[in-house]
Parts: sequence; C-alpha cells; structure tokens
Amino acid sequence: MKANSTKPPKRGARRRPWAVLVAISACSAQALLGAAQSQIRADESTAGAHQRQSEAGARTDPIEFVVGNVEYLLVHEIAHLLISEKNIPIIGPVENAADYIATMALLLEEPLDPTQRDRAQRFLLAAAMAFSASWEAGTSKGAEIPYWGEHALSIQRYYQIGCLLYGSDPAAFVRVPHAFGFSGERAQSCVTEYARASGAIEWVLQTYGRRPGDGPGAESEIVYEKAPTGVSTSVVQRLRSIELLERVIARLHERFTLDRPFRLVIRSCGRPEAAWMPDRRELAICYELIDTLYRLGLGAAPLVLDDARSSDQR
Ligand SMILES: [Zn+2]
Repeated sequence: MKANSTKPPKRGARRRPWAVLVAISACSAQALLGAAQSQIRADESTAGAHQRQSEAGARTDPIEFVVGNVEYLLVHEIAHLLISEKNIPIIGPVENAADYIATMALLLEEPLDPTQRDRAQRFLLAAAMAFSASWEAGTSKGAEIPYWGEHALSIQRYYQIGCLLYGSDPAAFVRVPHAFGFSGERAQSCVTEYARASGAIEWVLQTYGRRPGDGPGAESEIVYEKAPTGVSTSVVQRLRSIELLERVIARLHERFTLDRPFRLVIRSCGRPEAAWMPDRRELAICYELIDTLYRLGLGAAPLVLDDARSSDQR
C-alpha cells in the first residue's frame, strides 16, 4: 500500500524530501502522539530545531503551542465520548471522525473575547504543526510507519487540518494550500469536504444535541492534579488563566445532554497520552503528553499564513 502518492510538502526550503512516512499515534491505543513519541525526546529541542525556526524567520511560543494542542486533543477525546455515549453512527475510521470533529469545533468556535478572535485558528495551526513536527521527528529517526494504525498517518492529519481550514473560507485562507504544501486541485475538493463536514456537524447537533426543555443532564468535573514539572506547571497556569478546559466543557454541556457524569483530569499517567476511558468515566490528559508536546513545540516550524488571513475577513 502506498500511503502518500501526492507531491511532498513545501513548507519552506528547510524541508527535505519525505522519503519515509511515519504516523503519530493512536489515542485508542492510549497515545495521541504515540508512534513518534519515543522519537520526540529532548534532543528535538536542540540546535537543529532552533536553526530551522531561525530559517523560517519566526518562533513558536511553546506554551501556546501546547495549549493549542491540548484544546485540539481534548475535543478529539470529547468526540470519542459523544460517539460512544450517543451511539452516533460513523462510516469509516472513528479516529478520522474524531479528528474532523476536533478541527471543525475549533473552526466553528465563537471567540468569547474579541481580542482573542484568532485564538482558535492559532490553536488549530498549532495542532497541524504538531502533526507535521511529529512526522518529521519520526522520519528523521527512522521510526516504523504504522500503516495499519487506527489513525491516519500524522502527516495526513496535518493535511486534513489544512484542507478544512482552507475549505472553511477559501478567500480568507487563499494562501493555506501553499503554506501547508498541497495542490490547488486538492484545495478545490477541500471546499466540498468542509461543506460536507459542516453539514454532518449540523446533523449531529440536530439529531443528538440538546433540545428545548431538556434538563441539565449529568454534570462533569475538572480536576487539575499537581503538575510534576516546570513546563507542565506553566502550561496549567496558562490553561487556567484562559479557562480553556472550563469553556470547552461548558460548550459540551450547552450542546449535549449527558446521561452520566464524567471527570476531566489532568494528571500523571506514566505515558504521554490523552484518552477517554468510559469504564472509569474519565477523560485524561497526561502531564507526560504536555511535556512531550512542549519539546515538540520547541522544534516545530511555524505555519505562517501571512497577510492572506486578514483578521478583518474573519
Ligand atoms: Zn482518538
């Protein structure tokens, strides 16, 4: 099976040809950045990564990078929760559906603070950068490529985000295909792909969402266990300062009535993962994953959409 017959990405001259394909992981296999996680070590934050950033002419705020990825991964796990709790029919891999739901949720998010109107887009770009950086980290280390995995390959997940972003507003995001490195022909299909995904989201909301007169439903609890590292402490401080988890969970309860309660817990797990565990009624985001994302963020090449994405157009 040939997993990638398209032209290689063109995210700047720093990129080398994609000779090997690697995927990031599988949350159902208890890891969201898993397949490459063993390759994403501290050495990814070393000179090579910083040099690439310098060549790209911009740097990524690694804390914001982590926070953006936390929102994407949290919504991905919430998608698993909803699909299982509501028995939402899915055709095709459920991991793809969870990815699409996460991307669409960030695209459709209504910023509560006008000064943060681009926040969701920045977070979405951070998620795309993480998939790309993880792929690159894995390929550079010769990691095994899990073609058989439940998830799309991480580089495909990167392109999926870019495709839906472009499809959401081709005029505003006219430079996205170039920035992400996909063809104009593919970009045209992204418009249809976004419209189809948007229609599916609307159908899910109408079919399974909260109806007038519904009760409050089961509640949820957010628990921050003690952060074990300086990085995870800083990330938790940022998460709490913008009330990210609280807002995402509030949005979930606004739109869906849950039959049973659950806990969202940020805790140490022994492995870098995020997971919905229905038996424990727990959605866990692990500090090990936060630390891994931070190291990944230090080496991630910024995705610059330049002036094509004017805030006036959003
Ligand atoms: Zn998943």
